[in-house]
Amino acid sequence: MTTVIDTTVSRGFCVGCGVCAGFCPNNVLKMEFNECGEYNPVNVIACPHECGICVNVCPFADGNNNEDVIGQQLFGDIPQIKYSSEIGHYLDVGAGSVSSEERRLKSSSGGLASWFLEECLIKGIVDAVICVGHSTKSDRLFEFFLATKPEDVRKSIGSAYYPVELSDMIKFIQSHKGKYAIIGLPCFIKGIRLAQNRSKILNERIIVTVGLACSNLKNVYFTKYAAWVSGIRSDLSYVSFRDKSTKYRKYFNFRFVDMNGYTSELEWGSGELWKMYNGRFCSFHACDCCDDMFAECADVTFMDAWLTRYKKEPRGTNLWISRSYLVNKLIAAGINDGSLLIDTIPIDDVIASQKALRWKREVLKYRLLLLEEIGEMYPRKRVLPGYGNTSRIEREECKRYLRIQKESRELCFSNKDYSVWGEWFKDRYNAPYRYRLTSTILRYTKYLQNMLDDILFRH
Ligand SMILES: Cc1cc2nc3c(=O)[nH]c(=O)nc-3n(C[C@H](O)[C@H](O)[C@H](O)COP(=O)(O)OP(=O)(O)OC[C@H]3O[C@@H](n4cnc5c(N)ncnc54)[C@H](O)[C@@H]3O)c2cc1C
Ligand code: SF4
Ligand code: SF4
Ligand code: SF4
Repeated sequence: MTTVIDTTVSRGFCVGCGVCAGFCPNNVLKMEFNECGEYNPVNVIACPHECGICVNVCPFADGNNNEDVIGQQLFGDIPQIKYSSEIGHYLDVGAGSVSSEERRLKSSSGGLASWFLEECLIKGIVDAVICVGHSTKSDRLFEFFLATKPEDVRKSIGSAYYPVELSDMIKFIQSHKGKYAIIGLPCFIKGIRLAQNRSKILNERIIVTVGLACSNLKNVYFTKYAAWVSGIRSDLSYVSFRDKSTKYRKYFNFRFVDMNGYTSELEWGSGELWKMYNGRFCSFHACDCCDDMFAECADVTFMDAWLTRYKKEPRGTNLWISRSYLVNKLIAAGINDGSLLIDTIPIDDVIASQKALRWKREVLKYRLLLLEEIGEMYPRKRVLPGYGNTSRIEREECKRYLRIQKESRELCFSNKDYSVWGEWFKDRYNAPYRYRLTSTILRYTKYLQNMLDDILFRH
């Protein structure tokens, strides 16, 4: 039996969740940043037993249950539960936000995720919430922390497009009795579920899991580069990725503070940084092999309402997917006491809201084929390598993005002169002219079609 260092890290598919390091019974593993600003487990002592437990809980190791199997085990017997191959099991879906204007403006989307976690504490469902917030440690800007009071959960508001890892939290739960809620990206929740499957203690103590929809995760250099673009020249002490209080009043606004208190703001929902975000610049390679958009193993999933009718709302709106009656009950109570503003929407709208779903399913087939062609050992997924129904444009894009992902990781340690990164990216990002022209025409046609749909079939 080998360890995760052989099965996952050495193949380049570690997403840095830290579940293996937190769960290793012999404390062999510790999470550390690698040279690309991604968390990886490293050996602090030689592995004495090769028990294989770390491999059994790794979301990117082969041989473990996939999201369909885990979802079926967890939710399959819930009365009236439904299933869709795109989002997994679901009881209910909806759109909305918190009604408090102040709270909504501080949140990433509509504020439902932190509201839900806070309600779990207030209603005594859990004793503590494990969420992500700003770190005061010198080597990181964000980390998972334990919140035992509602005001602590409020400190976690906002999205961290930044590496965070769970090892200390997994150890804490194992050594401290209590009931916990935990929030994470889809692969992190899968890792937690695999660990719960092997541990009675984790199973009994983690009683609520909250997932966030996810298209890709960035290493620390994405943030460092964005800060540089905004004019920051010293080390960062704070970043908000989605600050709605800035002059831009849009969804994606960076707000940076450096060590000397100098602040800067940067709108990044369009332009070069946006292209970099979507074009896999500084992404984890694991994200290239991910087929779970909607955190299918979580009790509830929150996401942005990327639908035409909600995009115009600059204060932000969530969509959610519930997989438990507890979630339905808390949301219904929130509607009744006026804390939440909620719309009913069809499941198809939730699926349509996430364009990255196609990237994670249909286009994934082609990415796997490309990896196979170069002899890379990729993690087994729910789709098989092939062309699928991908278009030529998608296949060409797929090749470019895989290259950007791979080479941008290398750039992070080989050239820290940020002044050349923009040009570096452009050289690799721009598609041949005929592809660009065709995709622009297609994009505008789709945009017009969505707008018409929304006007004609508005609920
Ligand atoms: C890396 C990343 C990629 C994402 N990709 C998509 C996407 O493609 N499509 C989409 O619709 N939504 C995506 N989201 C989710 C989206 O950004 C919002 O987090 C979500 O809509 C909840 O918004 P909210 O206003 O309800 O959250 P808030 O009320 O602001 O609360 C946010 C909660 O999320 C937690 N949190 C923040 N960052 C992390 C993290 N890295 N890991 C675990 N917990 C965290 C905080 O602890 C906090 O409790 C992504 C989020 C992240 C972190
Ligand atoms: S094989 Fe077992 S002892 Fe060795 S690192 Fe993995 S979990 Fe720890
Ligand atoms: S469990 Fe998480 S941190 Fe450990 S090797 Fe797997 S992906 Fe990496
Ligand atoms: S895209 Fe997938 S692998 Fe990457 S962070 Fe999100 S859930 Fe994890």
